Amino acid sequence: MDTQKITDSDHELNSAEIRLESIGGLGANLAGKMLAEAGVLRMGLNGFNSASYGSEKKGTPVKSFVRLTPANVTIRGANPIEEPDVVGVFHEALFKTQNCIAGLKPNGILVVNTTKTPDEIRKLSGLKTGTIVCVDAMDIAVEEKTRVNTAMMGALCREVPILDPEAVREMIRDTFQGKYPGLTEANIRTFDRGYAEVVTKVYEPDEDVVPTAFVRPVSPMGYKTQPLGGVIEAVGNSILKDLSASRQGFLPAFEVEQCIHCGNCDQVCPDMCFVWEPQTNDKGKTFMFMQGIDYQYCKGCLKCVDVCPTDALSQLREDDIYAQEHIVKHQFPVYQG
Ligand code: SF4
Ligand code: SF4
Repeated sequence: MDTQKITDSDHELNSAEIRLESIGGLGANLAGKMLAEAGVLRMGLNGFNSASYGSEKKGTPVKSFVRLTPANVTIRGANPIEEPDVVGVFHEALFKTQNCIAGLKPNGILVVNTTKTPDEIRKLSGLKTGTIVCVDAMDIAVEEKTRVNTAMMGALCREVPILDPEAVREMIRDTFQGKYPGLTEANIRTFDRGYAEVVTKVYEPDEDVVPTAFVRPVSPMGYKTQPLGGVIEAVGNSILKDLSASRQGFLPAFEVEQCIHCGNCDQVCPDMCFVWEPQTNDKGKTFMFMQGIDYQYCKGCLKCVDVCPTDALSQLREDDIYAQEHIVKHQFPVYQG
């Protein structure tokens, strides 16, 4: 396993196009801004940053794009990055819903916030060749009471040749000092730990391997074809949504033996996660009984834990399999629109 910084000659990254794949709330947009600003203001490079996101509601997909070139190379494109040298994935659950590695060059670098090994991420992502960098940014952020973005920036600086760690570190200091001075030192520690705690593995470039092509998403609805008023016609489409990527390290654990079926949790849950079934009690009366949590919809806000009067719900540091093993699925009827 190679834990050395990749050299320019390995990757010819005198310039770099970086795409950050994330969801709202993890700070990818700010990370992209800080990387581009560090390039321009502190590394003497030309830089560009833009982002694409929807309503910026917590949990919706976000992409942030950063282009960096030497000062004598002009950046002319302001378009989204379709064939990046580097992809940063801020939550491994994004692999379930997004083609995160689309267009990544065969000798590209994939940096992932994960507890998995590079071999496991290779299998999950489908990446054939290039470099996989794993960092448990969520764990670092939880321990430092920050967000994953500065840990991911540390991991990116460790392995992407064009990024000068000291310049990025100082950019983080400047940014937080101005906006949230109380969080500055915690974010510097988060960055340093992201830099130090990477696990990297290089999968040798292979001429026979064709990179996963970028497919530009084409919406079936445009300004010419959308229904009047922008109505969404697909029936029950939110049933299919998977909000698990919105969780930021924690989820509610449920112990049915402790539950008194009071319904407090259901009243505060913003996403209808709790599954109920009618059951008959020992006096022969039928009531609704809590069965468990449909973790597909749980964004980990933990409001339910706050209001539970017993120990039926508790805060749990999320691991790879808890939600998978304890999910209780809603039995919604699904109609095709
Ligand atoms: S708030 Fe707690 S005790 Fe009440 S139904 Fe929910 S899990 Fe059960
Ligand atoms: S943490 Fe609790 S309240 Fe929040 S979305 Fe998940 S189940 Fe609902």
